[in-house]
Amino acid sequence: MSNKKIVILGAGLAGLSAAWHLQKKKIECSVFEKEPAVGGLCRSKKIKGFIFDCDGHLLHFRNKYTLQLVRMLLKGNLVSHKRSAWVNSFGIFSRYPFQANLCALPRPIAKECLFEFLKASQTYQDNTPDNLLKWINITFGKGIARHFMIPYNEKFWTVPLDKMISAWTDNFIPVPRPSEVIEGFFAENKHHFGYNATFWYPRQAGIGQLPLAFEQQLCNVHKGFGISAIDIQKKELNVAGKEKIKFDTLISTIPLPELAKIIRPLPGNIMDMFKKLRWNSIFNLNLGVEGGCQEGRHWIYFPHKDTVFFRVGFFHSFSNNTVPSGKSAIYTEVAYSKNRPVNKNKIIPKIINGLKTRGILGKKNRVSVLDINDIKYGYPIYDKYYLQATAAIGEFLSHNNIIACGRYGSWKYMSMEEAILDGRRVADKIIR
Ligand SMILES: Cc1cc2nc3c(=O)[nH]c(=O)nc-3n(C[C@H](O)[C@H](O)[C@H](O)COP(=O)(O)OP(=O)(O)OC[C@H]3O[C@@H](n4cnc5c(N)ncnc54)[C@H](O)[C@@H]3O)c2cc1C
Repeated sequence: MSNKKIVILGAGLAGLSAAWHLQKKKIECSVFEKEPAVGGLCRSKKIKGFIFDCDGHLLHFRNKYTLQLVRMLLKGNLVSHKRSAWVNSFGIFSRYPFQANLCALPRPIAKECLFEFLKASQTYQDNTPDNLLKWINITFGKGIARHFMIPYNEKFWTVPLDKMISAWTDNFIPVPRPSEVIEGFFAENKHHFGYNATFWYPRQAGIGQLPLAFEQQLCNVHKGFGISAIDIQKKELNVAGKEKIKFDTLISTIPLPELAKIIRPLPGNIMDMFKKLRWNSIFNLNLGVEGGCQEGRHWIYFPHKDTVFFRVGFFHSFSNNTVPSGKSAIYTEVAYSKNRPVNKNKIIPKIINGLKTRGILGKKNRVSVLDINDIKYGYPIYDKYYLQATAAIGEFLSHNNIIACGRYGSWKYMSMEEAILDGRRVADKIIR
């Protein structure tokens, strides 16, 4: 048993996983969570019989260890699904990924996408493109870029793509081979592309069951206790503006911009690095509706500006236990940022109108429940300052015995699986 005091900030998946891996090895630690419940972004709530997650949250496993861990935690409450994902553009639905399923598109558009892709794939590139826009054009050619990749990514990231780097794309954007793009030009592609071709989801009670299962196996999880100040010289935390507690090692999963507000003293050059961090926010509107809706489809991408949302998904397709009998549940996602704000007084009618004009909500689908999750920290933006700022902040934190962990603690485009693995990485580091 360690006599060093280890404190974990935040009981999202990363903080819970760090605590679970430490406590499994009989190393004491305490977790402080500002909200009254664990889970962070990975939580669910029940409203009038509908189980809504905080936006769509599906488990994708690249790693056997995580699948086994989650299976053990959820004790059979886990079902695997083959993705049925779609893109809505040019008035039709084509299968995701767009770049590998050109067959459903109007012929001139499909031809342009194919020819430009083949042209790009034959052009020798001897250097890595220095921005996302160039990466898209070089990787997919000007057709796929113009008709999907550029509008979708601009809508999603909310910033010009030539201001972003492409360091995050490997894990998230599937790049098919020329033969596969040709195959998809003639018929729907049989290959399963990308990290999310299969996903897992609880049979009962939504994705929030996962953090609850972690919590059941843990001691010293203090909910409703936000950390309001961190004195790195005294190694002392201020809990909820009242109690002070000491730490030897601090694991922080709270978003870096929030950490900058409470950590003292903070040298000017490091403060400047924190100020360089950028992110988008996600306005998530969940809807409970009467009647069936888009049966068999899991989610749909909307790349163009004519709809306010960039993606819409269907909780009832992940598990029909998430809705009362004869009803459906939809999640919608709108990205915004300082660079591209949204008017929150007008956004809900805009979303509902968009759902109607795109045929997602039909005449029989009366909306009976609305649930809003305004997610301030959505996706860290990988701009030209990203690498310099995160490296300098990471070094400063580690010099002060603060281990950055999780999606917002490490400031990375991380999935739930990666957040769990990051918690394990940090625990292993301490154990070693
Ligand atoms: C819109 C959206 C959709 C996503 N969809 C998917 C998906 O389908 N599949 C997937 O695998 N991943 C998805 N993700 C990613 C996934 O949500 C995250 O990787 C994971 O939940 C991050 O866990 P975390 O513990 O790192 O962070 P969080 O879940 O953010 O946990 C941080 C915790 O810190 C707490 N906290 C903050 N400040 C303080 C403070 N001062 N004191 C104490 N506690 C504090 C917060 O309340 C929170 O509980 C999605 C993310 C977003 C934004």
